[in-house]
Amino acid sequence: MEETFKESLEDAKKAYKLDDEELKVIEDADSAAEEIALPEYEHYLKHEFNSEAPGILAKYRLLGVPIGKEYGGLGMKPLVSTLVKERLGQLGLGISSFINVQSFLTAQTIERWGTSEQRKEHLPMAVKGKRIYAFGLTEPEAGSDPGAMKSTYEEKDGGYILNGTKYLISNGTISDYLLVFARNKNATQEIGAFIVDARSDGIARMQLREKIGLFTSDTGMIEMKDVPVAKDNILGEKGMGLHVAYSALLNARLGVASSCIGVIEGSLKASVSRARERIQHGKEIGKHQLIQQHIAAIRQNLEMARWPVYFAAFRKEEYEHDYGNRQVMEEVELRVSLAKRIASRLAFESADRAVQVHGGFGYSLLSPVGQLFCDSRVARIYEGTDEIQDLKIASSILGKEFEAYR
Ligand SMILES: Cc1cc2nc3c(=O)[nH]c(=O)nc-3n(C[C@H](O)[C@H](O)[C@H](O)COP(=O)(O)OP(=O)(O)OC[C@H]3O[C@@H](n4cnc5c(N)ncnc54)[C@H](O)[C@@H]3O)c2cc1C
Repeated sequence: MEETFKESLEDAKKAYKLDDEELKVIEDADSAAEEIALPEYEHYLKHEFNSEAPGILAKYRLLGVPIGKEYGGLGMKPLVSTLVKERLGQLGLGISSFINVQSFLTAQTIERWGTSEQRKEHLPMAVKGKRIYAFGLTEPEAGSDPGAMKSTYEEKDGGYILNGTKYLISNGTISDYLLVFARNKNATQEIGAFIVDARSDGIARMQLREKIGLFTSDTGMIEMKDVPVAKDNILGEKGMGLHVAYSALLNARLGVASSCIGVIEGSLKASVSRARERIQHGKEIGKHQLIQQHIAAIRQNLEMARWPVYFAAFRKEEYEHDYGNRQVMEEVELRVSLAKRIASRLAFESADRAVQVHGGFGYSLLSPVGQLFCDSRVARIYEGTDEIQDLKIASSILGKEFEAYR
C-alpha cells in the first residue's frame, strides 16, 4: 500500500473501527489508484476526460461505495468513502470529481429520494459504470445562490417540459443521465428535481475546455429547450427540489474535503522524494533548512486536515441512519463545512509549497505537483465556495437569524 496513505489509514484505524470488509474496500481503492495513475497522467497532459477511469473504478466496485448492496453497491459508511477518496485524491481531483458526481451527487441522492422503480432503474447501472450521471444545479446567473435559478418546468400532456441553461456541469457532455433542477413556471417558489435522459430532444451540450486545472474531468454547459420529461422522472416530492439538491451537496462537500487530504499526501510524497534527490549548492535540497520548513508545514497541514474530515465522516454515519433528526443534521452540516473549508485551504497551500520545493519543474504539468496545484484550486469553489462555508460556520455560532447566505 502507498506509504503516506498507509500512515493515515493506520491513524484512522486507531481512532475509528474499521472491519475486514471495510479494509478490503480501502485496499481496493489503493490498487485502483495504482492502476489509474498512468492513464490519468497521460489524459491530464492531453486535457481530456480519462475514459479509462470508469472501467477501472467499476472493476474495483468503487462507483458503488455508499450504495446499498441490493443495488450492487458496497453499502459502506462515510468514513470508508472518505478513505477511498483520500487515496484517489493523491492523483489530483479529476478522478475524485468523477466519483463524487457519479456516486454521491447523483446515485446516493437517487437512493435517498427516489421511488423503488427509480432506484432499480438507475442504481445498478450507475454502480457498474454502464451509465454516467451528471448533476445540473448551477446556472450562469445562479451559483452560490441556487434559489435564483431561472430554468423552468411546466406540466404538459401528463409529463413535464424543461427549459433553461445549466453551466459548469461536471460529466456534463459525457453523461447518459442528468439530475436537473428547475422551478415551476406557474408557481415559481416550487423547485423540482428531475432525472433526464441526456439524449432527449431539445438538449444541446457544449464542453468547457478552458479551465485552469481539473483537465481529466469533463465540464459542460447544457441547454434545455422544451425538453420532455416523463411524469415518473421527478425525484422526490414536487417542490422539494432544493432539499434534494442540498442533501446531495452535503455528500459531495465531504467528498471534496476527503480528496483534499489526498492532495496533501501527494504534495508531501513528491516533496520528500524531490528533497532527497535534487542537489543544489553541493547537497540534497532537503538538507537546506528552508526546504525542511516546507516539508514540515505540509506534514502539519496533513495532520490539521484529516481529523476534521474523519470526524465529519464519522458523524455523518449517524445522520445517514436517521435523516429526520434535525439536531444531528445541523451538527453534520457544520462538521462538513468545517472539514471542507479547512481541508481545501490546506490542500491548495500544500500543493503550492510542493511546487516551491520542486522549483521550475514544479511549475509544469509534467510534474505531479503542478497537477495537484492546478486541481486543488477548484476545491475552494465547487460544492460551496470558501465564503459560503464561512457564512455557514459563522451563523452556526451566531444563530439562524444571522444567516447571511440565503
Ligand atoms: C470545475 C467545476 C465543476 C463544477 N461542477 C458542477 C456540477 O457538476 N454541478 C453543478 O451544479 N455545479 C458545478 N460547478 C459550479 C460550482 O458549484 C459553482 O461554481 C459554485 O457554487 C460557485 O458559484 P459561481 O461560480 O456562480 O460563483 P458566484 O456564486 O458568482 O460567487 C462569486 C464570489 O462571490 C462570493 N459570494 C457569493 N454569494 C456570497 C454571499 N452571500 N456572501 C459572500 N460572498 C458571496 C462567492 O463565494 C465567490 O467568491 C462546478 C464548478 C467548477 C469550477
